[in-house]
Amino acid sequence: MLGNMMSGQLLISGLIEHAEKYHSDAEIVSRTVEGPIHRYTYSEAAKRSRQLANALEKLGLQEGDTVGTLAWNTYRHFELYFGVSGIGCVVNTVNPRLFPEQLTYIINHAENQYLFIDLSFIELVESLESELEGVKGYVILTDKEHMPDTKLNNAMCYEDLISCESDEFTWPEFDENTASSLCYTSGTTGNPKGVLYSHRSTILHAWIVSSGNVAKVSSSTCILPVVPMFHVNAWGIPYAGAMFGAKLVFPGPALDGASVYELIDNEKPDLLMGVPTVWLGLLQHLNETNQTLDCVETALVGGSAAPRAMIQEFEEKHDVFLMHGWGMTEMSPLGTATSRTKEMEDLDIERRYDLQQKQGKAFFGVNMTIADDYGNELPHDGVAFGRLLVKGPTIVERYYKAEESAMDENGWFDTGDVAKIHPEGYMEIVDRSKDVIKSGGEWISSIDLENAAVGHPGVAEACVIGVLHAKWDERPLLLIVKAAGQEPSKEDINTFLEDKVAKWWLPDDIVFVEELPHTATGKLLKTGLRKDFKNHLINK
Ligand code: AMP
Repeated sequence: MLGNMMSGQLLISGLIEHAEKYHSDAEIVSRTVEGPIHRYTYSEAAKRSRQLANALEKLGLQEGDTVGTLAWNTYRHFELYFGVSGIGCVVNTVNPRLFPEQLTYIINHAENQYLFIDLSFIELVESLESELEGVKGYVILTDKEHMPDTKLNNAMCYEDLISCESDEFTWPEFDENTASSLCYTSGTTGNPKGVLYSHRSTILHAWIVSSGNVAKVSSSTCILPVVPMFHVNAWGIPYAGAMFGAKLVFPGPALDGASVYELIDNEKPDLLMGVPTVWLGLLQHLNETNQTLDCVETALVGGSAAPRAMIQEFEEKHDVFLMHGWGMTEMSPLGTATSRTKEMEDLDIERRYDLQQKQGKAFFGVNMTIADDYGNELPHDGVAFGRLLVKGPTIVERYYKAEESAMDENGWFDTGDVAKIHPEGYMEIVDRSKDVIKSGGEWISSIDLENAAVGHPGVAEACVIGVLHAKWDERPLLLIVKAAGQEPSKEDINTFLEDKVAKWWLPDDIVFVEELPHTATGKLLKTGLRKDFKNHLINK
């Protein structure tokens, strides 16, 4: 028997309509790419999103069409989140930090019809333009005054595009399972894979993230999401902000410690969100200038593991609770967090840091277990570790345009992470099943680097591992076994790699070794190497 309740659709346009109606004066503050701070309200954001919707329809966009963005966290990008998805189109937020070949692949694979780009990325897009297949035009996210000369075909100015449009627009109603946004994973091998979110999954995720056990978003919250809107929808915060009328503070392109602190000092956020590298930069700035974070209550950190020293420094110097979160593009992205609990308050501080170092408990809606390589579930005893499997309504079912499902026969998605689950529910990442290197929150493929290095005639075998780095958390270290009778130098190999991988992927050092350890099946065994070389760059 079915229930007798209404079946209103969960649509992203409903969020901005709600914000306009009930939180019209709540602020959205942005550091712009042009420089000055911009400040407006949800009411103005809603009006401009409707102007944008009218403009998009005039460009000929129809339900299901895709529109790409290469943009920082600013109010204009925020409007695109609502304007594009609101008319039933899909916003494909492209991560400009990717290698040009990956960018071209993504823009073509997504079939973006228009690209909305910040001033910072014009040159980058100009260099890709000849390879872009279906892009009909480029909208530069700026005003007339700052509109540059560009070689891009059919370049338009965002403010011109929307200013002549009416702010009257009736958002269409459609099925909540309609696609709303598209993010690509920067995977280790092969091409990036697209995760196509729906209106329903996006709204459920925004609700989950806003809840009391996670970000506690409300109309009294002020949030500074440093986590980019071009990477997994800034952890859903633009949607959550609109859902509850929270004040949002967007940092634009200035993510260094001094600029982030300036915004904190002026706008008084109580919640910060970002990857560990960003917090490292902020803490360093605070140390150098002898300042403290007086207004901030919580900093949510994720994307890679938060070091204990960071948890401790936030707590002891700034009285800020560092909430550790874990998730992935395929999960919208958040799946777990270590909330501040009553039980924690009574714990010895070191024991509390032990808990904060773990990736946290799964949210309602995220079902989670661990299994061995044969799919047998392992006990949640804090000892056994295995492949971390997840399922739920905010988790990918299949990658964009893939024919086969991303789930196993029991409906689980394999995260590619290896984890323990403790009896009280805390999940702890042990390692990745793939040995990807996380540099400043971005991925570097060890396999791609190894493959490039072994192309050098002087190299018999290559192995790349991530080792500790003071600024970027991890950087690649290349270990090489020389080919018989060859004497390549470090410089030779670096020059050889230069045109084969993105510049920021180049290894920070190269070490020549006699031999490399292997598993029984002939794969490189990296665990021991990681331990041996852990501090190689720090001690250098
Ligand atoms: P992405 O899809 O780029 O967000 O990357 C997701 C991956 O980042 C996960 O599968 C993990 O390997 C890693 N990751 C995310 N958060 C954490 C965390 N708190 N601790 C350790 N690894 C993390």
